[in-house]
Amino acid sequence: AKRNSNEPEFMQAVKEVAETVIPFIEENKKYQNKMLLERMVESERVIMFRVVWQDDAGNTQVNRGYRIQMNSAIGPYKGGIRFHPSVNLSILKFLAFEQTFKNSLTTLPMGGGKGGADFDPKGKSENEIMRFCQAFMTELSKHIGANTDVPAGDIGVGGREVGFMFGQYKRLRNEFTGVLTGKGISFGGSLIRPEATGYGDVYFAQSMLATKGQSFSGKTVVVSGSGNVAQYAAEKVIELGGKVVTFSDSAGYIYDEAGIDSEKLAYVMEIKNVNYGRISDYVNKYPNAKYVAGKRPWEVKCDIALPCATQNELNEDEAKMLIANGCICVAEGANMPSTPEAVEVFQNAKILFAPGKASNAGGVATSGLEMSQNSLRLSWTSEEVDEKLKGIMSNIHEACVKYGKDSTGYVDYVKGANIAGFVKVADAMLAQGVV
Ligand code: NDP
Repeated sequence: AKRNSNEPEFMQAVKEVAETVIPFIEENKKYQNKMLLERMVESERVIMFRVVWQDDAGNTQVNRGYRIQMNSAIGPYKGGIRFHPSVNLSILKFLAFEQTFKNSLTTLPMGGGKGGADFDPKGKSENEIMRFCQAFMTELSKHIGANTDVPAGDIGVGGREVGFMFGQYKRLRNEFTGVLTGKGISFGGSLIRPEATGYGDVYFAQSMLATKGQSFSGKTVVVSGSGNVAQYAAEKVIELGGKVVTFSDSAGYIYDEAGIDSEKLAYVMEIKNVNYGRISDYVNKYPNAKYVAGKRPWEVKCDIALPCATQNELNEDEAKMLIANGCICVAEGANMPSTPEAVEVFQNAKILFAPGKASNAGGVATSGLEMSQNSLRLSWTSEEVDEKLKGIMSNIHEACVKYGKDSTGYVDYVKGANIAGFVKVADAMLAQGVV
């Protein structure tokens, strides 16, 4: 703890895992006295680097780039790249740590990693974004590779940015390989990858609801965020007959009591993905909806909540508000959106609660499928990928139930996900010796 005491998000993520995994280690002799958890919390490698680029006005700009190579016991490092001004070592280490467990849960051979830069894409021109991506990849290219470390997108990094980075990697290395996932379809991307995290989150919630004889049909659903994960989670909820009533961004949220249908969702996608605008623009076209500045959507009455924006975006008071309003299910689409106190509120109320490392694993799982397709040099159809995604989410749900169900029948999905994720990585580390 001392070594990382100035890294609060990383400490938060480790504490949550340690609380559930240490009792499991104590009950299982095989995992004792091998410093397994101690090894897992120490990144195999941290790379930090200067990223210098020129803005449109000709000024030189400096940012800090990172790649955390956390754990390669079960496969090449794998995890997204985040471009956001809040990016720092603590946030990326928490994400890389969680990623190790999440990737293990998918059952695919992927280790854990994460990277990014404290670059703010908001208000930047497309040329500036491209120059930044090229400058970032110029250094990152020395540390990654299709069999070493395969980054993907995350906050602030979508298909456009992955394309720019892939182009630069190819130019520098003179090789066309599956070094990044989330690529465009014309150059090795997988169908369903853009949809996968959001869809997977909803598939996971479906499995949880089914244990109570419930479904999305007729349910009111509050979604936070309005980026990649939020958009496709909403799309799947609408398809399953649920009513999505909110979206948000870091400035506020919109509430459309009548429900956001497919046509309105298409407008949200246009605002965010084509115009790179703000969610407040929604009320310009749909004035019956309201925009609430400076707040998060958890005060809106709902049956199901899908936090899909960012870490620590749902606190204890907001969790209490959700429970008081009758919410029965929370499935995290983002990474660690609920604070530890909020998680405690959900678990004490015994509602269905899924931690991101289980419920948002569909994105990286589909990235794993993209890697397989790249290695095989062929492309699967949307139906094939979606079927595999559904199967993976259902297996993750089963693994959580296996390790998380108590004698009363209550499933602690946090405990289940942590232990199931731990076992595979720990077994591989034990087999590989003291390394
Ligand atoms: P996007 O960049 O597409 O969207 C991010 C959304 O979250 C935006 O609406 C953004 O609003 C909001 N947001 C970002 N930072 C903050 C902040 N500090 N406070 C409040 N709101 C914020 O990212 P994704 O949809 O890809 O990612 C969302 C979450 O899902 C992240 O936690 C990510 O790690 C996680 N995730 C993503 C996966 C993927 O496949 N993309 C896979 C697994 C997890 P604004 O524009 O105002 O910043």
